Amino acid sequence: MRKRTGALATIILALSVSAAAQGASAATRDVMAVAAEWKASVAYDPLTGTGHILRGGDLVRFKRDYPVFSAGAGIAIRAPAIRDSGARLEIRVETVVALERWFAERDAERASRFSIAAILIDPGHGGKDSGAIGEFGSGKDRLRILEKDVVLAIGKDVYGRLQSRWPDKRILLTRSGDTYPSLDARVDMGNDVQLGINEAIIYVSIHANASFNKSASGYEVWYLNPEYRRTVVDSKKAEGVDKHVLPILNAMLEEEYTTESVFLAKSILGGVTKSIGDLSIDRGIREEEWFVVRNAKMPSVLVEVGFVTNEAEARMLSDPEHLRKLADGIYNGVVDFVDYFEHRKGTGAP
Ligand SMILES: [Zn+2]
Repeated sequence: MRKRTGALATIILALSVSAAAQGASAATRDVMAVAAEWKASVAYDPLTGTGHILRGGDLVRFKRDYPVFSAGAGIAIRAPAIRDSGARLEIRVETVVALERWFAERDAERASRFSIAAILIDPGHGGKDSGAIGEFGSGKDRLRILEKDVVLAIGKDVYGRLQSRWPDKRILLTRSGDTYPSLDARVDMGNDVQLGINEAIIYVSIHANASFNKSASGYEVWYLNPEYRRTVVDSKKAEGVDKHVLPILNAMLEEEYTTESVFLAKSILGGVTKSIGDLSIDRGIREEEWFVVRNAKMPSVLVEVGFVTNEAEARMLSDPEHLRKLADGIYNGVVDFVDYFEHRKGTGAP
């Protein structure tokens, strides 16, 4: 009988979590040995009887003979106390299990953290496609302004700023010169980016507006009409998935992208308003089924920086200083969005 008990104790000392869960409550281990398995460090002050176990960025504080552990920012874990035998610090197996559970929760939370891994900036039109054209005045006052030139200048500026801010993110530009990538090619650039779990890409298309009403002016930001149902889930990636589940997954992703697109749109509108709100009219957030936005499997917005058909606005849009301000506003809006989603995702909209 004694021998069998001894064998059982040996198994428990080798730390089987399931054995511990089955009620091997008397077993104790050396804190240092447990910490080594966790790749954690231990600090202990025998004078005060206090110490901590640090695993990665996760800290658990303990007090000798005290059956409550303080984890992270003040979470209390109730478990049998750590004891100081004089020769070593002893931790009960059920305490090991309780702390492991907390560390595992922290790992899971970290793994689910959302990050914007890539940002695709798309200056509209280009090459053979001038986009909207504005022509005014004559002689010395003559002005001819092409949407493709305005949006390229702004797009390159936004792209450069984002690259310097986040060298570790993939910042992409659909065109860097007077060329015309097809709409499919632009969207594919974004959809081809390989993303990890919980990584996302955002898509910002930049355009300038035109209207038969020459007095129309101002800037606005568009996002996808939430009524529109896209095939968001890639059917190749979904191989082996129950066909009945696909529409549900689609709807869930759709919902998510819409929320993010609306917030991205609001952030950019806010950034542009801060930058040029005193010079141009805020036309607000709009929803539409733009081709480039519709086919992008990612949160997407389209910024209209102003009307080239309005003379006063066209003259501003031909001023590099005004374009710099617009780029500044779009950049700040993107930064606000990324910072919010990477740090406060899951806590609800602001
Ligand atoms: Zn356009």
